[in-house]
Amino acid sequence: MAETRAPQTNKLRVFQRKDIDNIPQLAALPASEREAMKVVSAVLPFRVNNYVLEELIDWNRVPDDPMYRLTFPHREMLSDDDYRIVEALVREDAPANVVQAAAREIQTRLNPHPAGQIELNVPLLDGHPARGIQHKYAETVLFFPTQGQTCHAYCTYCFRWPQFVGLDDLKFASKEAGDLVRYVEAHPSVTSVLLTGGDPLVMRTALLRRYIEPLLAVPQIASIRLGTKSMAYWPARFFDDNDADDLLRLFEDVVAAGKNLAFMAHYSHPRELSTPAAERAMQRILSTGATVRCQAPLIRHVNDDASVWETMWRRQVRLGAIPYYMFIERDTGARHYFEVPLVRAYEIFRDAYSRVSGLARTVRGPSMSALPGKVAIDGIPEILGRKVLALRFLQARDPSWVGRPFFARFDPRATWFDALRPAFDEPEFFFQPSLERMKRARRTTGASKHRLPMHDDVACA
Ligand SMILES: *Cc1c(COP(=O)(O)O)cnc(C)c1O
Repeated sequence: MAETRAPQTNKLRVFQRKDIDNIPQLAALPASEREAMKVVSAVLPFRVNNYVLEELIDWNRVPDDPMYRLTFPHREMLSDDDYRIVEALVREDAPANVVQAAAREIQTRLNPHPAGQIELNVPLLDGHPARGIQHKYAETVLFFPTQGQTCHAYCTYCFRWPQFVGLDDLKFASKEAGDLVRYVEAHPSVTSVLLTGGDPLVMRTALLRRYIEPLLAVPQIASIRLGTKSMAYWPARFFDDNDADDLLRLFEDVVAAGKNLAFMAHYSHPRELSTPAAERAMQRILSTGATVRCQAPLIRHVNDDASVWETMWRRQVRLGAIPYYMFIERDTGARHYFEVPLVRAYEIFRDAYSRVSGLARTVRGPSMSALPGKVAIDGIPEILGRKVLALRFLQARDPSWVGRPFFARFDPRATWFDALRPAFDEPEFFFQPSLERMKRARRTTGASKHRLPMHDDVACA
């Protein structure tokens, strides 16, 4: 029955590259700053909204404000050479297709597909690569609904940036909820489905329900996860959008079906948890019986400070959420602008972790989502007179790798897993022979990408 509900008070207003001159808050900044935004956002995605502009960014602290760094493009995100190429085109008002061609060339040099996301993670369904499905770890399948391939705003460091600039042509996305169910049923090891994107919560509730509902009847599914930044970038989604109440009903239905509905909530900075809207969104979500687990990468200019993480984890626990992962920024996009050396990341993690209660020490990290798995840096011990990095898989393509300590040579400049070498002059890390075997199997069985082997028992299935 038609419900009487207060009309929505605040509508989402989105601002993209073409709107840069119409963002009122930017008018006070030098024209050179706006020009730099136009140059960089020709190459890297840009999207903010009225809530980010009005509630999250502290305009008195711009340009160093972390929320501003998080959402607005900056000149240093491109190399000097690349910047000059695009700058010249923007200044001469070159046609859009000319700017785009130059941008494409730069984008393809920014490692758009790190960690074997396409070659190794996309499984087969009926003998063909399954659109919109990624399956890397035995228990959990990732699903990318076509209509969830955008966000309420973009993070400048996003590792999925290629899909937002059209580089991926929605290669990752699927409209077929039925495919997902069939895939899951064919793979009994799968107990968890993670809807991600983009952000699945940009979808209207009725559409989201079409993806989620078929999963509720599948007994092996213990949890449905939603990878989302909506609670940080558009918390009104949960109390003010026209279909907000329906959305909460959908969450309740998942819980009533006996599944854990888990929000994998992306919070980069404590400010995102500090507005009245953010608190209200959290309360409403938790009131449905859903759980909220929080994760984010460690990013220079945004949150590379132990006190920021300490504050954030404390606030999460206070609101009833669960700190989950601290990630290392992936080796893609404007990584040179955001990256933090692994040794420094470990120090920040440990300093923050040492200052919070056990309730916040559910967090794990700092962790790299690398080709073989999620690798955490556990410490920097001295062994046999050598300073080393102690590492451990939190997740792995082969579950037998999980939890086995291994050691890399100390390297204060390394910012990613690929730069690390075995600590004691071994020729390779323990998992490398079997990883090579997995890669070879995928390359050699059938010449084309359309005939890649996938086995449920091998974790790269
Ligand atoms: C992190 C991740 C998951 C989920 O891992 P959990 O440790 O269970 O949260 C699943 N698939 C991929 C590809 C991932 O990167």
